Amino acid sequence: MLATHFHLNTSKEVPADAEVISHQLMMRSGMIRKHAGGIYTYMPLALKVLRKIEHIVRTEMNNSGAIEILMPVVQPAELWMQTERWDAYGPELLRLKDRHGRDFVLQPTSEEVVTDIVANEIHSWRQLPVNFYHIQTKFRDERRPRFGLMRGREFMMKDAYSFDRDEASALKSYDIMFNAYQRIFSALGLKFRAVNADTGSIGGSRSHEFQVIADTGEDLIVYNPDSDYAANIELAQAPCLIAERATPTQALERVPTPGANKCELVAEQLGLPLTQTVKSVVYRVTDAEGKHHICLLLVRGDHEVNEVKIGKLEAFKHGFELASEEDIIEHFGSKPGFLGPVQTLKPITIIADKTVANMSDFVCGGNQEDTHWIGVNWGRDLPEPIVADIRNVVAGDPAIGEEGTLAIEHGIEVGHVFFLGDKYSSKLKATYLNEQGKPEVIQMGCYGIGVSRVMAAAIEQNHDDRGIIWPMPMAPFEVVICPIGWGKSEEVRTQALAIYEHLKSQGIDVILDNRDTRPGVMFSEWELIGVPIRVTVGERGLKDGIIEVQERSKTESVKLSPSEVNSYII
Ligand code: ATP
Ligand code: MG
Ligand code: MG
Ligand code: MG
Repeated sequence: MLATHFHLNTSKEVPADAEVISHQLMMRSGMIRKHAGGIYTYMPLALKVLRKIEHIVRTEMNNSGAIEILMPVVQPAELWMQTERWDAYGPELLRLKDRHGRDFVLQPTSEEVVTDIVANEIHSWRQLPVNFYHIQTKFRDERRPRFGLMRGREFMMKDAYSFDRDEASALKSYDIMFNAYQRIFSALGLKFRAVNADTGSIGGSRSHEFQVIADTGEDLIVYNPDSDYAANIELAQAPCLIAERATPTQALERVPTPGANKCELVAEQLGLPLTQTVKSVVYRVTDAEGKHHICLLLVRGDHEVNEVKIGKLEAFKHGFELASEEDIIEHFGSKPGFLGPVQTLKPITIIADKTVANMSDFVCGGNQEDTHWIGVNWGRDLPEPIVADIRNVVAGDPAIGEEGTLAIEHGIEVGHVFFLGDKYSSKLKATYLNEQGKPEVIQMGCYGIGVSRVMAAAIEQNHDDRGIIWPMPMAPFEVVICPIGWGKSEEVRTQALAIYEHLKSQGIDVILDNRDTRPGVMFSEWELIGVPIRVTVGERGLKDGIIEVQERSKTESVKLSPSEVNSYII
C-alpha cells in the first residue's frame, strides 16, 4: 500500500467525550468516526484491524469444527415472544415496525433465530452435534454507550451456538469452544485470563468469561496466582453479603421513617447529592486487639460506576473478611439484601463513604448515637495488602481449597461461553429423533466474542504516551517504510521501493509513506497509529550503507544494511 492511495487523517485533538485511552487513540489516529452515541464508522485503519481479528476468529472456529452462516440483523419479534425475551430483554432490545405494522428487533444476539433454523434443519441424532456461528453486526441500546468501541450500541460480534443430543455431549462442545477461545486470544497476541462467570438467570451449570487484562477494564477478576482459580468478582463474591438497594430518591422519601434502609439513612446523614447512588457492602474487620467489628462499607456513585464492585475491591485491598449471614442477621436484624428497620440495628462501624470517581478520595462524616465511625484516614490505619486471605474471599468454593492468596486485576470482557441446556430449544421446539426414534430436546451452548471490543481492548492493554502499540497479528499494517526526502532523493526512492516490493512479495502487510512529510511529523503519526515495525530510509544512512529499523515496542532502533532488513523482518 502506498500512503497516497490510502486514507490517513490523524489529529492531536482529544475529543471531549473520549474518557478512556483506546477511545482517545482511535479518534486521534483516525480509526473511527462517531455518528451518534455508540455508533461509529470504521475508517480504513480500523476496518483492517477488524478484518484481521475476524480472520483469526474465523480460522480457529473453523478448525474446531464450527460452521459459518450469516443470520439477519433484523429479526421477527414472534421468535423473541416465543422465548419470552421480547419482554425479558428490556430496553437494551431495539424494537422496530415494518410498513405493515409488524414487530421486529435488531439482534443483540441470535439464540432465537439460530434455534429456529435448527428446529427446521435438524431431525435426527445423526445430524448432531453441530455448531453454527456468524460474525455479524449486533445492536444493544446500552443505557450509557461509552468508551468508543468498548461499549458501543452497534458493534461486531462473533456468536456461535452448539447443538447436542444430551448434556454430556453439550459440555464436550463447550470445552471445544473454550479451547478454541484460548487459541484465539493467544493468536491475537493479547494477555488474557479465562474466569469463571456467573450463570445468572439462565441457571446453566457452566460459564466462563475471557477477560483481557487492562487497568482500565470495567470488570474485576479475582484469581489465585498459585492455582487455576480465576473468577469474575461477582462469582467469587457469591458468599459475600451485599446490601445494594438504596437509590437517592428512595432515600429522600423514606428517611428517616421507621423501616428505612440503613444504607439510605447513612446516605441522608452524609448529605449525598440526589444524583448519586449509595450502595454498601458488609464486611467484618478485626482491630488491633483482635476484636471483630461488623462494618458497612459505603460507596457512592453516579449511576455510571459499579459501586458494589469498587466497594469490594477496596475491601479486598484492605484484607477485610466477608460478613457471614449470621453476622448480618445478628447486627442488622434482617437478612442480607435489606438491612432492616433502623430501630433493630445494633451498633455498627461505618468504614467510609467513598466517591467512586476518585479512588483515593475518602470522605466520611456524620455521626449517629449508636454508630461508631472509622473516619477519613481509615485506609492509613489499616494494613494495605493487595491480596486477601483466600479463605475469607471464597470460603466454601471447592475449586480453590483452603490455602493460598487471591489477587485482583481489572479486565475487559471480550468473550463469553455459556452452557444453555434446553432454555431456547424447548421453547422453540428444537428436537431430534434419538436412535430409538423417540423425540428429544436438543441441548445448547452459546459462545460470543466482541470482535470490535477486542480492538479497543488491545489498545487499552498496549499503548504508551505516543500512541498505540499493536500486537503484530492485528496491526493495521505490519511494517511502515518511512523514506526521508522522498521527493528529493532518487536513491532514497529506489531503496525504499525495493524494500517495499520485496516485503510485499513475501506477504508482509506493508505501507510506504510516500507523502513526503517532515520526518518528525511522519514518525509521530506512525507512532500514534502503532504500526509494529518502522523502516527508515534516508540519504545520510544510505551513504554509510545503513537503514534504520525501529520496533514500536522497543526504545532502541537497529541499524542494518539493506540486505539485512528483509531477513530482520521476515
Ligand atoms: P457486558 O458485561 O460488557 O455488558 P455482556 O455480558 O452483556 O457484556 P455478552 O452478552 O456476553 O455481553 O456478549 C458477548 C460479547 O459481546 C461480550 O463478551 C463482549 O465482548 C461483547 N459485547 C457485549 N456488549 C458489547 C457492547 N455494548 N459493545 C461492544 N462489545 C460488546
Ligand atoms: Mg451487557
Ligand atoms: Mg458481562
Ligand atoms: Mg457476558
